[in-house]
Amino acid sequence: MSWETVIGLEIHAQLATRSKIFSGSSTAYGAEPNTQANLVDLGYPGVLPVLNTDAVRLAVKFGLAIGAQIAPRSVFARKNYFYPDLPKGYQISQYELPIVQAGSLQIRLPDGSLKTVGITRAHLEEDAGKSLHENLQGASGIDLNRAGTPLLEIVSEPDMRSPVEAATYMRTIHQLVRYLGICDGNMQEGSFRCDANVSVRPQGQQELGTRAELKNLNSFRFVEKAIEFEVERQIDLLEAGGEVVQETRLYDADRDETRSMRSKEEANDYRYFPDPDLLPIVLDEAFIAEVREELPELPEAKRARFIADYGLREDDVDILVASRPLADYFEAVAGTVKDDPKLAANWVVGELSGALNRDGVDIDASRVPPHALGELLLRIKDGTVSGKLAKEVFEAMWAGEGGADEIIDSKGLKQITDTGAIEKIVDEVLAANAAQVQQYRDGNQKVLGFFVGQVMKASQGKANPRQVNEILRKKLS
Ligand code: ADP
Ligand code: MG
Repeated sequence: MSWETVIGLEIHAQLATRSKIFSGSSTAYGAEPNTQANLVDLGYPGVLPVLNTDAVRLAVKFGLAIGAQIAPRSVFARKNYFYPDLPKGYQISQYELPIVQAGSLQIRLPDGSLKTVGITRAHLEEDAGKSLHENLQGASGIDLNRAGTPLLEIVSEPDMRSPVEAATYMRTIHQLVRYLGICDGNMQEGSFRCDANVSVRPQGQQELGTRAELKNLNSFRFVEKAIEFEVERQIDLLEAGGEVVQETRLYDADRDETRSMRSKEEANDYRYFPDPDLLPIVLDEAFIAEVREELPELPEAKRARFIADYGLREDDVDILVASRPLADYFEAVAGTVKDDPKLAANWVVGELSGALNRDGVDIDASRVPPHALGELLLRIKDGTVSGKLAKEVFEAMWAGEGGADEIIDSKGLKQITDTGAIEKIVDEVLAANAAQVQQYRDGNQKVLGFFVGQVMKASQGKANPRQVNEILRKKLS
């Protein structure tokens, strides 16, 4: 029998607000434990939550970007459960009436094909605290700094059919929330996390199989690996006559396997009910229109524009639009070089990205700003420096030795375009290699490459290669 894999993802994106969703404490990452939790976050009796409008704005922005319905009225609900990192005994979330409903997102699969994934809903909720087990003997610590941090939980339809599709969808959401500036996307710090719901069913069957939920997958690779393992586990189980039980499982990256954590709660176990401390969120058209105005150009639109306006290759464009700052950087360089966007793209995708990766530097902190790179490229275009030596100039710029012109001067890298000077070098090379000259005249055209190499070497790479070729041909014929 052949099996079909079915996957739905729940992604938690931490919203980039400065303060928490229901209190004024800071959301900054990395502070000493429990220094950023106030009475509301600690769940003291008698205190009341106050909704942070920025969190609402960011959620609406996301909803508009995925063409969803923005609920004119949505409601916060209490999800009741006990855990040490949740002092109130309930999490404030949204249940029956989420703020974002029924959107969709187009994803571009590695083979280039497009697929639309339905997004059932995206709702606002607060994060819980964190249990700490390291550096404590026979005890656990509780850090409530994260309690009350705003999250957007983005719930997909069960539309993905392979681990690769799931990882691609997650990447696309990650790219989108960063474009929108609603989430920093930092997975190490837990600002972007994912639960994967996985089931299998016999090929052709309509009804969904029983699913397992894989919790807290914090990298694209782990999502793919965890699902791969889980699909195989479920198929083996079913083929051996067993049954999949609905449960929550944890992925162990070291052993590359998933393990049962707990049987899955049903929604009614949580005793959801509308939070009596909070008013419904009521949004009018004017507010939604205002947020719509703030939407930036989205990745797919940017991609199409880069291909159409700059005539770039698709794989270069995919690299350039992967993040907004890189795309902006490219456009700034292309603006300086004007008529040669391909040259700009080559250098941004090549030398610049290489240097950033090598030194682990963020594009925003690039040691060569876009206008400086643009000026170097102009020097290639006007023949001041060869494309090859320009790389040397770039490295010096990266090392902070100055601007393009300055470095070309001080290092003596200016291209030799003076015909007389090149002819002189050519004459010397021909005189020193009489045997090869004879070979060429006997009809061996390949020797030309040898001469070009010798002349370039003699000129320390500075002779203009086009002129070298011309002069050599003339003198040899
Ligand atoms: P819960 O809130 O209990 O986690 P939901 O019904 O909200 O459950 O679904 C959560 C996620 O699980 C959604 O992304 C949904 O698409 C996905 N999902 C639901 N049923 C299945 C299934 N049988 N196989 C795979 N994914 C599923
Ligand atoms: Mg779930």
